[in-house]
Amino acid sequence: MIRVDVTEVRIMLRNKESNKKLKAYATVTFDSCFVVRDVKVIEGSKGLFVAMPSSKMKVSCPKCGHRNVVRSHFCSQCGNALEQPRAAAVSEENRQSEHKDIAHPITPECREYIQKRVLEEYDKKAKEPGAGQTSESSSAADFSCNGEEND
Ligand SMILES: [Zn+2]
Repeated sequence: MIRVDVTEVRIMLRNKESNKKLKAYATVTFDSCFVVRDVKVIEGSKGLFVAMPSSKMKVSCPKCGHRNVVRSHFCSQCGNALEQPRAAAVSEENRQSEHKDIAHPITPECREYIQKRVLEEYDKKAKEPGAGQTSESSSAADFSCNGEEND
């Protein structure tokens, strides 16, 4: 049973060459009064899925205790070499596990519901004429010759 209602979903399409898996950012409004930004639409191996906003996990340096971003090779405080998590199979899904969710549903039903709503809006937006043009300002140079990747 869903108690909250997603009242608005705003989609900001991304088509950066640098991160093809990240399809869009979404801003989701619940019950017209609570907004969650930085929800991501990601193309995984099993299709599109929605990732909730997250922050990078940190690991403490065993020598000085400085908190470094996961997968740093050396401590940025003392230069001590840091133990590496296994580097193999770094898929987008695996990378998610190095992130801590900031806001997220705690029931599968709610997760499903949010994902459905976000992907519906994403679908609409992606089909609009002129889709793929990001209105968002970005510092990176604008590549005008993106390959078509429509299904
Ligand atoms: Zn250190």
